[in-house]
Amino acid sequence: MSEDCIFCQIVAGDIPGRTVYEDDTVLAFLDANPLSPGHTLVIPKAHHERLNDTPADVAGAVMSTLYELVPAVESAVDAPASTVAFNNGEEAGQEVPHVHGHIVPRFEDDGGRPIHALVTDRPELSDAELDAIESDIVAEQA
Ligand code: AMP
Ligand code: ZN
Repeated sequence: MSEDCIFCQIVAGDIPGRTVYEDDTVLAFLDANPLSPGHTLVIPKAHHERLNDTPADVAGAVMSTLYELVPAVESAVDAPASTVAFNNGEEAGQEVPHVHGHIVPRFEDDGGRPIHALVTDRPELSDAELDAIESDIVAEQA
């Protein structure tokens, strides 16, 4: 537990949360400032800041919970779709430094945007630059 982490305080029961799923590893609760009805956050109970600070088995448990919860959340609010995403790091918009996956139910004509609207100025990358990025990512895994 991180003392000044708001999500650790929800896990500890020190501040209230609207819990929709809980097991030994994972907690899911309603977002306090929802982007749409049913906006849900899925977190590991242990404090890890970003996705890759999280042990693989715990990250897998978070993903399994997202997998199970998406249809339940969509059904509960009668949503035909959802955006499922992580803001992974401060520069990506992560405000609470305790890794969390968002399930944001989406509705026809809800005024929301797709993931592709995250960035307005897209880079123009040449084939050579794309080839270099491809091989760099492959090399990083070696
Ligand atoms: P992010 O920008 O990805 O770090 O998202 C943090 C999310 O946590 C936001 O959607 C907030 O509305 C939500 N949030 C902050 N405090 C609480 C809280 N006490 N209970 C539930 N959700 C919260
Ligand atoms: Zn925490």
